[in-house]
Amino acid sequence: MKEYDYLIVGAGLYGAVFAHEMTKQGIKCLVIDKRPNIAGNVYTEEIEGINVHVYGAHIFHTNNRKVWEYVNQFAEFNRFTNSPVANFHGELYSLPFNMYTFNKMWGVVTPEEAAEKIEEQRKAAGITEPKNLEEQAISLVGTDIYEKLIKGYTEKQWGRPCTELPSFIIKRLPVRLTFDNNYFNALYQGIPMGGYTKMVANMLDGIDVRLNTDYLQNKEEMDAMADKVLYTGPIDAYFGYSLGNLEYRSVRFETEVLDKPNFQGNAAVNYTDRETPWTRIIEHKWFEFGTQPKTVISREYSSEWKPGDEPYYPVNDEKNSKLYNAYKELAAKEKNAIFGGRLGEYKYYDMDAVIEAAIKKSKGF
Ligand code: UDP
Repeated sequence: MKEYDYLIVGAGLYGAVFAHEMTKQGIKCLVIDKRPNIAGNVYTEEIEGINVHVYGAHIFHTNNRKVWEYVNQFAEFNRFTNSPVANFHGELYSLPFNMYTFNKMWGVVTPEEAAEKIEEQRKAAGITEPKNLEEQAISLVGTDIYEKLIKGYTEKQWGRPCTELPSFIIKRLPVRLTFDNNYFNALYQGIPMGGYTKMVANMLDGIDVRLNTDYLQNKEEMDAMADKVLYTGPIDAYFGYSLGNLEYRSVRFETEVLDKPNFQGNAAVNYTDRETPWTRIIEHKWFEFGTQPKTVISREYSSEWKPGDEPYYPVNDEKNSKLYNAYKELAAKEKNAIFGGRLGEYKYYDMDAVIEAAIKKSKGF
């Protein structure tokens, strides 16, 4: 008899939800994480009374009522609505692309005028069937918006030309012929009051957790503790990179406390020109309508992942997708281990989809 039924590697959202669900079914779980903290990349830390999103901004949004009710068991959510502002060499535009954006870009006033302008630019670019992100973007919003609000940002974010990126990345962004700055087309949206760390701690309440514990470096010893393993780390690392490295994009954050109450007046400002080295600046207090006398900002710099860096975004291009599928075949042959989450499944997952997947994996919902 081993001490635990399940060893859960990674105390992020996927691991915490899975652990919570399994524990509810009477299955004894141990959750481990190599970091000194729980909550994975949704980890928030309080600085100057402000919940700082240490591993990047996370705005919870979903159309799935069950998932929404599920997360509300662990935290109360505020009414935050994501409305980023784009800064192109000091010119400000509303995001996502909507009538405010089109009016500022072209002076158009009606939805018909905006649609005509987009159609005109799409035709001039001669795109019928978009084959890559550039063509997809131009056919959605025209050349001007592509040049000022998409090209520079996307190339900084992904470190590749837009002609070499898959079009699905840009489909995450809505295009609207209405005056609506809400970034997400989601029924439910908000930030857990008191921070994500508290929410994940509530999920893990009553469950054994060991931090500063690296699974892959102590695999044998850790495997001896439980019958089964859920692994939420990078799938290629699990197999010792035996088939080669999957590529990720990484992000570096430069966080600063400023002795003023308001730096940019919005939670997120995207710097969409190529020349500004950071992709965006997050001003954390605005996620929770903060009234603190100081403010905390994080500049985000995107970089290619190399061993030792934190992996953030899977690069789901053809080459990497193929390699992932090969790892997935290896994973299917593992008798006692299952894989999940953004890194375990090499998938550009949103939080709600992660939660849904973890619940399904635990045979809930
Ligand atoms: N994007 C862009 N300009 C922006 C914001 C986003 O071109 O101002 C593109 C970019 O290619 C990015 C994609 O839209 O990778 C998805 O953006 P999202 O904000 O959903 O990315 P995340 O918040 O997950 O980094």
